[in-house]
Amino acid sequence: MNATGISSTGIDAVIDVRSDTVTRPGERMRAAIARAAVGDDVYGDDPSVNDLQAFAADLLGHEASLFMPTGTQSNLVALLTHCQRGDEYIVGADAHAYKYEGGGAAALGGIQPQPVAIGADGVIDLADVASVIKEHDEHFARSRLLCLENTQHGRVQSMESMLAARRFTEECGLRLHLDGARMCNAAVYLGVSLREIARCFDSVSLCLSKGLGAPVGSLLFGNRGFIDEARRWRKVTGGGMRQAGLLAAAGRIALTDGLARLQEDHDNAAHLADRLAEVKGLDVRQGWTQTNMVWLDLHTDCGTELSAAAKQSGILLSVRGRSCRLVTHCDVDAAQLDRVADMIIRFFQTRSAEVDVA
Ligand SMILES: *Cc1c(COP(=O)(O)O)cnc(C)c1O
Repeated sequence: MNATGISSTGIDAVIDVRSDTVTRPGERMRAAIARAAVGDDVYGDDPSVNDLQAFAADLLGHEASLFMPTGTQSNLVALLTHCQRGDEYIVGADAHAYKYEGGGAAALGGIQPQPVAIGADGVIDLADVASVIKEHDEHFARSRLLCLENTQHGRVQSMESMLAARRFTEECGLRLHLDGARMCNAAVYLGVSLREIARCFDSVSLCLSKGLGAPVGSLLFGNRGFIDEARRWRKVTGGGMRQAGLLAAAGRIALTDGLARLQEDHDNAAHLADRLAEVKGLDVRQGWTQTNMVWLDLHTDCGTELSAAAKQSGILLSVRGRSCRLVTHCDVDAAQLDRVADMIIRFFQTRSAEVDVA
């Protein structure tokens, strides 16, 4: 048994829509891992890591990139590289790099977070950013960096808002970082290249291990000087891996094959949202199904029962309080997602029938 409560022999039968991090490498990726050329990447000797970093940097139009173990470490290293002790970064109050990374920047870097509200559309109001930038005065932390996130809970920030953030940060002398864990989903939704998004930012972090389907890995992008310094912080934070080419080879497949099929995940999520739109007892969160996530707001505290009923049907979903998140990815196809929809529809039909009787 593992954390899912499902024995590992049964895991292949399970439909897991908790996250797009649950994907397992397919045959092509496993073959690439098996034949990857490797060396010691701390010496800069791993040909597969070097190949991935060069390929990815070109894909995003940044001078250089750095292969990282996780997205959390990639964001942390970006913060450590941009900011000194006593500096601050301005970040959405519900952003991953503020709320879901264990306070790493403060704990390990002496970097103060300055959260600002994220609007209903998932975008930070630049007027709010302006209002928290501190004057140069010894009383205050030094405002150094603005950190955006795209996608944010599956929602996409427009090119206009990213370009506005670029102009704004240039005017007020802040650096601009993108937590682009799922930026490929954003690019597919916007119909733009990764370069168009990446050129708005001084640094970008991107996860290979989410919708793109790699087992492990993230990339940090920036100019040559930034990446040289980031390489140092990666080592300091324990992220200097040795024969990491096995993982980089998977990452290379993720950036080609994985990227090419993301639209399918978005179509599947849209179909799932459609099927659940009329279910009594929940609301599909309007306007949030832009990429590979469907958010449900449950009308009652039935989340625990819902996930238990799902597990009975061999389905894993993620419930927190009255909100439920369904994430599509390369290991769930349209037919399996129909089974997820059927199960949820059945669950709420049964419940409303029980309420009618009572
Ligand atoms: C998943 C995620 C991360 C962190 O990635 P890990 O590889 O899980 O550490 C950072 N930012 C966002 C927006 C994410 O979704």
